[in-house]
Amino acid sequence: MSSDVVLVTGGAGYIGSHTCKALARAGYTPVVYDNLDYGHEWAVKWGPFERGDIQDRARLDEVIARHKPVAVLHFAAYAYVGESVTDPAKYYRNNTVGSLSLLEAMRAGGVRDIVFSSTCATYGMPDALPISESQQQRPINPYGASKLMVERMLVDFAPAYGMRFSALRYFNAAGADPDGEIGEDHNPETHLIPLVLDAASGRRENITVFGTDYDTPDGTCIRDYIHVADLAQAHVLALKTLREGGASDFYNLGNGQGFSVREVIAAVERATGLKVPVKESGRREGDPAALVADARKARDTLGWRPQHADIDDIVRTAWAWHQKQPR
Ligand code: UDP
Repeated sequence: MSSDVVLVTGGAGYIGSHTCKALARAGYTPVVYDNLDYGHEWAVKWGPFERGDIQDRARLDEVIARHKPVAVLHFAAYAYVGESVTDPAKYYRNNTVGSLSLLEAMRAGGVRDIVFSSTCATYGMPDALPISESQQQRPINPYGASKLMVERMLVDFAPAYGMRFSALRYFNAAGADPDGEIGEDHNPETHLIPLVLDAASGRRENITVFGTDYDTPDGTCIRDYIHVADLAQAHVLALKTLREGGASDFYNLGNGQGFSVREVIAAVERATGLKVPVKESGRREGDPAALVADARKARDTLGWRPQHADIDDIVRTAWAWHQKQPR
């Protein structure tokens, strides 16, 4: 077992905290670096906590000098697509400029390896399904663009400064820790599965289905939901692969299977035994009809094997977590 220290920016957030648990299980010590804008201190359970902002270069230098991480896992980012359209500066400043500050701090501190949280939003409207890593990336919102710019920085920094990266393009993260220790808690919540659970449990009146006239079998949008514990495991594998000398690369993380909004609602009704009140409305701007990953590269190169690919399993873990939340 290794006891290597890794710096986890955004480690108090949804995917970051689940990854800290997986890192600890794999024998690493995750040091969480988070400004707590959206993260939760209660989600930091598997290593030291250092409060800080990725734009604060002096604070980053101090934390890197103190903990001497062998690598960085970089989750810290704003991730509200709609907000990125109305306030793009916030996204470019934090997601893009903040990442530049982090990369410079890594370079100065002699940290070579980074696993970066990228997104399927870098693809925009896909040319074909399933989406492979070689598809054109034409983001249709500032969030996706802010992440694509970081991918580009990684490509340029790696050869110039002797750094190495693994950029993981997530599809739709969902579910909660199967042990029930942590789960999704966004404020505001905009994601489909927690909102459908709110509608099932009566915490909200209904779920609004954004668009019923898409060119899909039931008219609603199709997404590739991937369990957060499987995402976490992919980060551990990407880290190990880099540490063992693997090449810098990009990987899609999804199950390769799409579910429509109506299918997700049906899965919630099965998991909860409750009826979900549905309200149909128009399309949400910027939503592609279908996004499904071709994640063969992560399987073949990283040896990634999702353990919770079943939508019922994903929804069940989310429901278990949801029921534990006081509201
Ligand atoms: N969606 C919906 N009602 C909601 C929230 C989401 O119909 O209240 C749909 C949305 O249009 C998309 C899918 O659910 O097709 C997943 O949306 P989410 O915001 O969870 O993730 P995204 O795909 O935007 O990353």
